[in-house]
Amino acid sequence: MTHRALVTRGDGALVLEERGPFHPGPGELVVAPRAVGLCGTDLELVDGLVDPAYVRYPLVIGHEWTGVVTESGAAQWTPGDRVVVEGIVPCRHCAHCAAGATNICDTYAELGFTFDGAAAGEVVVRAELAHKVAPHVASEDAALVEPAAVVYHGLSRAVARPGLECLVVGDGTIGLFAVQLLQLWSPAKVVMAGRRSEQADLALAAGADEFAVTAPRASFDVVVEAAGTPSSVRDALSAVRRGGTVLLLGLPPHGEATPVPIDDLVNGDVVVRASFAYTSSSWSQVVALLNSGRIHPGAVVTHRFGLDGYRDAVAALRTPPPGVARGKVLLELQ
Ligand SMILES: [Zn+2]
Ligand SMILES: [Zn+2]
Repeated sequence: MTHRALVTRGDGALVLEERGPFHPGPGELVVAPRAVGLCGTDLELVDGLVDPAYVRYPLVIGHEWTGVVTESGAAQWTPGDRVVVEGIVPCRHCAHCAAGATNICDTYAELGFTFDGAAAGEVVVRAELAHKVAPHVASEDAALVEPAAVVYHGLSRAVARPGLECLVVGDGTIGLFAVQLLQLWSPAKVVMAGRRSEQADLALAAGADEFAVTAPRASFDVVVEAAGTPSSVRDALSAVRRGGTVLLLGLPPHGEATPVPIDDLVNGDVVVRASFAYTSSSWSQVVALLNSGRIHPGAVVTHRFGLDGYRDAVAALRTPPPGVARGKVLLELQ
């Protein structure tokens, strides 16, 4: 059967188009997505703002998702299996892949970026990248393994030990995931610095001790920059204490730049760590946390739409409705 897919050509428009029918080749699965998270990067893809080296059009969007296998070309999978699937397709033989850094494989290929994503009735994936979702896990939680893995991968390289004082700059979903996942490192304190006071309850529910509208200066061991704007990057750099680490997770539009206080960074012996996506290893660790019930990424979902409601979903993503919390915007399929 054919199905409908949310397609963009990077010209600001998102349209439903017929695709398929799909059948799996050897080592492939056809999966019916059940829930698909949308994020700021999807908007940047729609608006043509992503570095052209990281995108191919026309593109079916959707890189945060979970689904059910409908047809299998791999012995270990059968129709009905619930899966989450690593979006980055590593070559497995370049020097980076050999070292485990599959996120920076020499050949960049990613579902929802360089090939068709999951905001559709069906998607074709490589079976070797699929992971089983346990029966008790809600689809809303499973759908958000991708952004959780991005944040977990960054945090695992920036948080050296338990008991640290941490600041998250940015009150969007990456910031909320950062607050939630920082708890895995038993921090002494987590503060979220955000612009919208409507986000405060979500931040506290995710585990923040405090929600602040202005970022305190020079007082944190770890600062996670999760907004991806020039001013939030400057806020993050000024909030770290001497000897601390700033983790850059927010992704601004291609070419964005900002001046940085070089002497403060040098005098402060500051580590500035940027982090791209996730490795196969960090993805597996997040799936294990999900299936064991240790993390619930779906707790940040506030807006749900069907595929036909995609225009409303995009509107909620572009402009947070005043007076209400806006966490993750999710498409629910079938
Ligand atoms: Zn995303
Ligand atoms: Zn590789």
